Amino acid sequence: MPPTHRIALHPRSHNTPARPWDRLPLQIDELTVIAKVSERCNLACPYCYYFFMGDESFATRPAQMNEAAIEQTVQALSDFIDHCHPRVIDFTFHGGEPMLLKPSRFDLLCRLLRERIAPRVKLNLGIQTNGALMTEEWIGLFSRHGVNVGVSIDGPPVYQDKARPTVQGKPSSGLVLDSVRQLQRAAEAGRIRPPGSLTVLDRTHDLDAVLDYLVHTGGFRSLSFLLPDSASGDPDFDDAAADAYGDLLCRLFDQAMADPDLHIREVAEVLKHFQVKRAVPDPAFQLRTGAAHLITSAIVVMHSDATISVDDSLIPTGAWRRSSPVLALDEYAIVDLFSHPAYGEIIQAMQDLPPACADCRWKALCRGGRLEDRPQHREGFRSRSVYCSGLKRFYAHVAAFLIENGYPQSALDAALDPALFGGSTGPDSIPSGRIKENA
Ligand code: SF4
Repeated sequence: MPPTHRIALHPRSHNTPARPWDRLPLQIDELTVIAKVSERCNLACPYCYYFFMGDESFATRPAQMNEAAIEQTVQALSDFIDHCHPRVIDFTFHGGEPMLLKPSRFDLLCRLLRERIAPRVKLNLGIQTNGALMTEEWIGLFSRHGVNVGVSIDGPPVYQDKARPTVQGKPSSGLVLDSVRQLQRAAEAGRIRPPGSLTVLDRTHDLDAVLDYLVHTGGFRSLSFLLPDSASGDPDFDDAAADAYGDLLCRLFDQAMADPDLHIREVAEVLKHFQVKRAVPDPAFQLRTGAAHLITSAIVVMHSDATISVDDSLIPTGAWRRSSPVLALDEYAIVDLFSHPAYGEIIQAMQDLPPACADCRWKALCRGGRLEDRPQHREGFRSRSVYCSGLKRFYAHVAAFLIENGYPQSALDAALDPALFGGSTGPDSIPSGRIKENA
């Protein structure tokens, strides 16, 4: 496979059309950092986009972030604060498997972030781990540095061991359950916050069995579920398959409604659309922005070799992602990534509805689906989501529930008003919280 293309940055060259962010100061309110502190993994999950979807550039980078790269990473974030004045930085230790990083380096990175970044912004630290390497030393580090823990887990052994085997082809379910129990004990003792789970949906799995395992065996109360990334490259993926995933999302919704203490992120996100006030910018937020061009949230991937790139959730877009910029932090700043035409293309794709979605009732909510689920990546992401028919099922299910439970029809219509396309978070918002299952 070709390595990730390392290109020169010419955001203001003759070939680059002028864009607002080339001329105006840029402000990004919330930055999500996906820190590839380890670029290798101890599991070999066949669906993993980072290792098995055509981008083998990870093999060209160091297995772990070293001390010099850690220093560059923190300095780059400090410079970013100078340039873009973010209010929040969500920093996630990611991989590969981030717990393959030496604990001493994890400790160093946390300490530098707490010392140099936390005093200047609201800093949230998190780790997304496959949960096969938990030790008391690691739990002590999570506790000391206030790191939220997410565990990637696909349910009972019959599913987990097939979907998430070790690199030696062995089962991982016993290791992961042991880790989850260590984490839950630490949470009960008040040392860390309760861990969350992250599960890749599979329409061939019994979702009730998965939920039962996560909630009753694993003790999770905060759950997240992802649609598989492989669908947009699968010629056999059809509306029937999409409908099956729509039914799974409906089932998750019903479960969350039946148990108010259960938090399912994908349900919370869709409900949020019906809860927020739209088109009323926060005055304090506007004041801070001044004349700046504003992006409400943005994602940067920081690699083990102190390079940066766009959201790695876009790896399933294949050639498009491989041709996107990879910038070395000894030459460029984080803000340069957001000034690059490739990033402008992402923003444009989020703003422009795919033509096939023009008459859709749910477009203000759905926005054409995730970019990586739109098959025509190279044509500007102009196709709608391969999950479209399933998403429609899900949205109709949610709307019906809301109306049945007293949500005013007028409020529903307002939330789905096509004129509000662009969403509740502003026209330049790239959804955050896109932590995915390659840990
Ligand atoms: S539900 Fe389908 S048609 Fe509607 S906005 Fe989403 S992808 Fe487009």
